[in-house]
Amino acid sequence: MSEPTTPAGWGIELCKFWQQAGQALPVDVKLLAPEATKRFADPIGKIKAHDIAGIDGMLIKRPSKGDWCIAYDPAVESPGRINFTLGHELGHYFLHRRMRDHFQCGQGEMLDYESATSRKLEGEANKFASFLLMPIPDFKVQIANEEISLELLGHCANRYATSFTAKALKWIEFTQEAAVLVVAREGFICWSYPTDSARRLGLYLPHGTELPRVSLDNLAKVMDSRNHTTRVGAGVWHSTLEAQESIILSDRFDMAIFLVRFPFANLVEHEEEAIEDSVSWLSKKIRGW
Ligand SMILES: [Zn+2]
Repeated sequence: MSEPTTPAGWGIELCKFWQQAGQALPVDVKLLAPEATKRFADPIGKIKAHDIAGIDGMLIKRPSKGDWCIAYDPAVESPGRINFTLGHELGHYFLHRRMRDHFQCGQGEMLDYESATSRKLEGEANKFASFLLMPIPDFKVQIANEEISLELLGHCANRYATSFTAKALKWIEFTQEAAVLVVAREGFICWSYPTDSARRLGLYLPHGTELPRVSLDNLAKVMDSRNHTTRVGAGVWHSTLEAQESIILSDRFDMAIFLVRFPFANLVEHEEEAIEDSVSWLSKKIRGW
């Protein structure tokens, strides 16, 4: 049997492995990891909690036993996030274990924009976890005929036992809509993920970009974790397009998640020039002009 070659391919393969064993969703990575790796000479022999603050998960080689151990932070409040972290570490196992003996992952690591290599490996492990835990065909059925919102994505929570952000990313990945998911902390963008059609409109907001002033004001009005949706004019998120902005505060209230959709984007002719215009508009904004 030939093995998958991409993070998505591996994720899909292992999700099938889980379902063919007669198991229902959500995928329980604690059960899956030892089973799915025991055909290798260096399987995952142990999954245990650790007590190192700030590290969500680790994948460590155990030379004395010739196997691997996944360690996770049990203090993370949301079980969905733990399951996603375990999926992420399993991704490092399938994709990267020949490159390193030790992977240490956390929010900080994910935001390590200094190193292109770690960013690539972290991105691949997240992609693997997303395909493993949230199979697209099933996800499409769950949200069929429903108006997508941060609330709906939140309500899908239990089905996949994964974090809210991971689910929103999944939607971003396959939707035809122009939209961007933005995670911000203290007024600055930690990361943003545009959909393909938003990317074509030049919508990419790099790490460290300041939030638009209007959105900061909207954020100040959100006092609880309930979804807050409002219309914002052209010139806030895009030079010429109005947007619908939804804000939710993360479970620990230290991050704000924005889902920004552009309902009129498909009415716009995407001329090359217009794209360049909005790109230079954005880069000016980033430089604070
Ligand atoms: Zn990682």
